[in-house]
Amino acid sequence: MPIFEYHCTKCNKDFEVLVFGKEKAACPYCNGKKITRLLSTVSHKSEGEFTSSQGSSCTSCNATSCSSCGH
Ligand SMILES: [Zn+2]
Repeated sequence: MPIFEYHCTKCNKDFEVLVFGKEKAACPYCNGKKITRLLSTVSHKSEGEFTSSQGSSCTSCNATSCSSCGH
């Protein structure tokens, strides 16, 4: 399950949200949609477009970048 870290620009809080499919996340504090995704702690493994666009050389490992798996 992809868990993304967001920052709400309205109430200025950071929070993590489980995102299902293409569902848009909302701020759990103010329910606002003015949020920006933080890229720091996110695993991109489940974002299909990332792996399908360059999946040939690195399909057998879980790394999002070949620098960490030795391929
Ligand atoms: Zn908010």
